[in-house]
Formats: sequence, structure tokens, C-alpha cells
Amino acid sequence: MSGPPPPYPGGPAYPIDNKGVPPPVQYPPPGPPPPGYPAHPGYPQQTGQPGYTQGQTSTTVVVQQPTIAVVQQFREAPVQTQCPHCAAQIVTATHYDNGTFTWVICLILCLVGCDFFCCLIPFCVDGCKDVIHTCPNCKAMVARWSRM
Ligand SMILES: [Zn+2]
Repeated sequence: MSGPPPPYPGGPAYPIDNKGVPPPVQYPPPGPPPPGYPAHPGYPQQTGQPGYTQGQTSTTVVVQQPTIAVVQQFREAPVQTQCPHCAAQIVTATHYDNGTFTWVICLILCLVGCDFFCCLIPFCVDGCKDVIHTCPNCKAMVARWSRM
């Protein structure tokens, strides 16, 4: 134990003034953050990562859906289609015709005991008949939709 010990063993790097008070710590200056530092601490930095975000957008996988032939659903409503007879783009004209379903309903009504006139009800109800799609251009039948 000889000689005075240093003022601060392993002391700070900053110089000490006469009063022994260290100079104020240099805080980051207020205002815009220094470059390279995220503006919002704690939020993932979106920029400044080359090859990450840009790579994701450039490798967008384009799913090519297989070409499926559009099957025209000929039901009760008129259908826009191409006439197979005159090859014209048409909207089919529909009318009702007695079909298998009509006769089945008629038979069911007979089996449950309805009289003769009740059996004729299906022939008067369009909901029991088949739907005939015809071409308004050439008057040819395009399709027939049966309910059975
Ligand atoms: Zn036609």
C-alpha cells in the first residue's frame, strides 16, 4: 500500500474535470433517428433486407387452373350458348313438354287413389314437365332437360 490509488480504478474513458463530475452522457439527439435504425423500435424492419421481401414478390407462383370445358346446364332457365345447328350465339327459348317425370307423377297420383282428373294435374303443371331448349334463330331443339 504505497502511493495514492488511482482516482477511479479501471475508471471511465471519459475525461474527468476538476470537480470529478463526468460530462453528461451523449444521448442520441432528438429528431430523426440515425440511418439504419428502425423508426419504430420493436417493429420488424421492413426495409433494408435485400433479397427477402423483393425475392418473395418476384417468385409469385401463378397457379394455372386447368381449362375446364364449360358444361352448359340446361335447366328451366334459358341458357346462353352456341347453337349446334346454326352455330349462332343464342339464348335458348324454353317451353315445357310432357316427359318421364310427368308420367311418373301421374302414376303416383293414381296409386295413392286420386281420381282420373287428379292424375292429369302433372300435365298442367310446368314444374312436372321436361324443359325443351330451342334455338330462336333456326327453331331447332338445342337441348332437353329431363327432371329424372
Ligand atoms: Zn340455331
